[in-house]
Amino acid sequence: MTTLAIDIGGTKLAAALVSTDLRIHERRELPTPASKTPDALRDALNELVSPLKAQAQRVAIASTGIIHEGTLLAINPQNLGGLMHFPLVQTLEAITGLPTQAVNDAQAAAWAEYHALADGISDMVFITVSTGVGGGVVSSGKLQTGTGGLAGHLGHTLADPNGPVCGCGRRGCVEAIASGRGISAAAQGDLAGCDAKTIFARAADGHEQARLLVQSSARVLARLIADVKAITDCQRVVIGGSVGLAEGYLAQVRHWLAQEPGIYHVELSAAHYRNDAGLLGAALLATGEKS
Ligand SMILES: [Zn+2]
Repeated sequence: MTTLAIDIGGTKLAAALVSTDLRIHERRELPTPASKTPDALRDALNELVSPLKAQAQRVAIASTGIIHEGTLLAINPQNLGGLMHFPLVQTLEAITGLPTQAVNDAQAAAWAEYHALADGISDMVFITVSTGVGGGVVSSGKLQTGTGGLAGHLGHTLADPNGPVCGCGRRGCVEAIASGRGISAAAQGDLAGCDAKTIFARAADGHEQARLLVQSSARVLARLIADVKAITDCQRVVIGGSVGLAEGYLAQVRHWLAQEPGIYHVELSAAHYRNDAGLLGAALLATGEKS
């Protein structure tokens, strides 16, 4: 059976045919429409999947935002513009005529990363640190999505009650400090206005403020991981995302996690899949099995 997998992100849309042996064929990409209106997204999705749909038997979507009963919601409404309440599943069913299911992109990526782990691990948590901070929890071999799709949104747990206000409306979320956007927003002086990539490059060159900004992100993430260990008793935490996979970042997280009491220590590893984790995880979820 071939799955038409679709990944809907804030900046790009991707689609591919995924075979039962999890091989990706005919990957296509389009930019996410800048207008973020329902009509523009519908047209872009139609253009994206039209050349692929005849070869697929089902559709599996991984999307940014919260997926509740096939509809798009958001913790941070600014991220989705006019797409709040977009009927994702219904739209793809109408375009393709195929059975369709949808899941949050970080939850999908968590499922793909779980699949990539060695046997013997039944409890793992995936955390992606990039523009935002997202996550997914696998408990007793099952992906936790929650009744409303909110489960695993680890970036919106509290890091600092006096920290900056997060896009979700809460003050001091992990995402507001540790994410690429958070790192960039905290930059001052000669780093003001720099993106996270530039700040990481400056930190590697020994720039003191840049080094402290990266350290603050890694430290917040390590505390989150200790919390996650206390809540889930997971055997492994997998870290992904452009910040999470940046040179030297995981080593810093390990260093700060080691400062926590031993009971909160957990093995950390870097994500196995990079850009295709959402597509593969959605396809895997559609098959309903681990391997
Ligand atoms: Zn938040």
